[in-house]
Amino acid sequence: MPPFDVVRKSFLVVVSGPSGAGKSTVVDRMLERSSRLVASVSVTTRPPRGDERDGVDYFFVSREEFERRRESGAFLEWAEVHGNLYGTPGAFVARMLDEGMNVVLEIDVQGGMLVRDSHPEAVLIFLMPPGFEALRERLRGRATDDAEVIGRRLENARREISYYGRYDYIVVNDEIDRCVDDCLAIVRAEALRRERASI
Ligand code: 5GP
Repeated sequence: MPPFDVVRKSFLVVVSGPSGAGKSTVVDRMLERSSRLVASVSVTTRPPRGDERDGVDYFFVSREEFERRRESGAFLEWAEVHGNLYGTPGAFVARMLDEGMNVVLEIDVQGGMLVRDSHPEAVLIFLMPPGFEALRERLRGRATDDAEVIGRRLENARREISYYGRYDYIVVNDEIDRCVDDCLAIVRAEALRRERASI
């Protein structure tokens, strides 16, 4: 008997959580360990931090350029966070999904809610820091941000955490390896859902 040819539909994986929850590290580790996962690189008006590279961490653009792209419908979603604009490039994401890749979007809760509405098959993971003390420590450790920025981010963290109830999964990032294992387990189980399979 020939083997069953199961085709699995690819999907979006939204990873949100307050600044300092360790989203970037978790997403990087997920990508290293899964060949069917790719990350979307967002466009932002925020200036580069530390050793961030254009086209790798973000596409850094002026506000005018961002608005021009937004007007032309280039973004799958966009939001203003901490006074800067961030957007997910729609064409790249569509192409990756087409090629059968699952696409990770590391975006804020406003963006997460937009994706939930526009892509009901998306999987939404909320990353929690272990606690407010740990969060404050992590934000302080980022020497590139000054006290006022840190204060604003902590305030924003409280607001972001209030959205956790609208996410499909909550993962606490108290131990990085276990946290990455948990996120990959979610993606793996979600990929096997009957609704995503055609035989
Ligand atoms: P940061 O400036 O610290 O890199 O990011 C600030 C916040 O913006 C984070 O919560 C990050 O996940 C979010 N963010 C990054 N890219 C996007 C995006 O394309 N869309 C949305 N909605 N949020 C984003």
